[in-house]
Amino acid sequence: AGTYKTDSERSFVMIKPDGVSRQLVGKIVSRFEERGYKLVAIKTVTPSEDLAKEHYSDLAARPFYPGLVKYITSGTPVVAMVWEGKDVIKQGRRIVGATNPLDADPGSVRGQYAVSVGRNLIHASDSFEAATKEIGLWFQQGELSDYEPVAWPWVM
Ligand code: ADP
Ligand code: MG
Repeated sequence: AGTYKTDSERSFVMIKPDGVSRQLVGKIVSRFEERGYKLVAIKTVTPSEDLAKEHYSDLAARPFYPGLVKYITSGTPVVAMVWEGKDVIKQGRRIVGATNPLDADPGSVRGQYAVSVGRNLIHASDSFEAATKEIGLWFQQGELSDYEPVAWPWVM
């Protein structure tokens, strides 16, 4: 393994049903790929209510929680992904943009493509603890690929 792996971390990123429905998957995946991050796992999932509730369990007391669970379990799949690389948790949040698209940087995914907080296209882990929980919730160990992208010595 090269020394460029030292600072590496992983984040769970999910394109929500509106992103899939609006056919923005490729554009969103490209942002992470072009930034230099490594795709560790990717799959479509039509989440069960239990999975959606567990994913957002920290927000169970919030008034928007039932609507949020309904949105994620609409029946349209989500795209669940794991991305790896230096600072990917913090950088992933910047790529995604602020929760409310009204506050999101125009260069971010939400700032470019979304207008409503309730249809904000994408999720990214907000901490190392959240990333660990979310990757474990959505993926089996065997679904996570280990390889070294040829570009990494030039990126990381
Ligand atoms: P983020 O996705 O930016 O981490 P939160 O963890 O605070 O944001 O909330 C999770 C998701 O819940 C948001 O992405 C959004 O889809 C939804 N949500 C948050 N706040 C509201 C709100 N006030 N009204 C409707 N939906 C909301
Ligand atoms: Mg969050």
